[in-house]
Amino acid sequence: MPRDRFGREIDYLRLSVIDHCNLRCVYCMPLRGLSFVPAPELLTAAEIETVARAAVSVGFRKFRLTGGEPTLRPDIVEVTRRIGSVPGVEDLAMTTNGILLPRLARPLREAGLRRLNIHVDTLHPERLKMLMRFASLEEMEAGIAAAEEAGLLPIKINCTVTRDFNDGDVVDLARRALDGDWHVRFIELMPLGGGETAHVALSQFVPSAETRRRIEAELGPLEPVPSQSPSDEARNFRFSHGDGVVGFISPVSEPYCGACNRMRLTADGKFHLCLLNDDELDVKQALRSGGGTAEVAAILLKAVTLKPTGHRLDEGLSTRVRSMFQIGG
Ligand code: SAM
Repeated sequence: MPRDRFGREIDYLRLSVIDHCNLRCVYCMPLRGLSFVPAPELLTAAEIETVARAAVSVGFRKFRLTGGEPTLRPDIVEVTRRIGSVPGVEDLAMTTNGILLPRLARPLREAGLRRLNIHVDTLHPERLKMLMRFASLEEMEAGIAAAEEAGLLPIKINCTVTRDFNDGDVVDLARRALDGDWHVRFIELMPLGGGETAHVALSQFVPSAETRRRIEAELGPLEPVPSQSPSDEARNFRFSHGDGVVGFISPVSEPYCGACNRMRLTADGKFHLCLLNDDELDVKQALRSGGGTAEVAAILLKAVTLKPTGHRLDEGLSTRVRSMFQIGG
């Protein structure tokens, strides 16, 4: 397994396969002024497979498809099948808003996808429209039902907590966990990419401790669940009177850089060394000038070596160049 210069074992590759999204969450994508990677500059399914083979050859085992919205990619089932069929891929998951799952959940499952994280910021229909803008609750619930039917389990629900938008709705989401339906994780906002969305992330930030207090005040005490994996980004808790689990992902108030095991691939073919940093190494040029698995593996190992640690999110400083939808959440 590759180790970086801080001794961290890096075996988890998150692949952003597209930077387009069908939603415009207020903290992620502005309504105007967006520019996207032109289609010819996106890595092809075959190129993504080469990267996955290279990653496995140096010890990566876990893979996640993300975006943008990964299900918007017309060949997402083929991308999934290609990665899923690489020997040595032990886990293949996807992060999605779930809207297109009613038609894609089963083919994705058959192509080798194992698990899903589905993004639902609130169960309140009007506030959902304000926060995620183009989403409807019916579409999201239908997506979750389709994923369950297809056996893409366990499903984790991701809720990014944004003051004055959904900070009051966390209890309703946590109640779904208490009822044993969902594993819900509450994520702290990070100011990525500068501009309007980073401003929202800074001004509407809610610390996980506050979200937890709000949930406990209504639903009773939460007891820590011992971490199953040292690199789990979430601190998980169980209700003392129920089976459900809620998690808190707190990159700002409780950074977990020391446990990071991730490398990222952007849709335009760069290894992005850390979510909260702009450092990248190009891999597309190597792929498009005849490079194969060995060349890509060498670039990936260099990326692991250069991977930074630490961030200055508490000072409001983060990436300048890329926003979350351009890196892959
Ligand atoms: N479209 C998919 C989705 O909605 O899950 C995958 C990409 S999206 C960028 C992944 C996750 O990143 C979502 O849960 C979203 O709420 C979260 N996210 C986006 N911008 C964020 C930010 N600035 N801080 C924290 N989380 C953010």
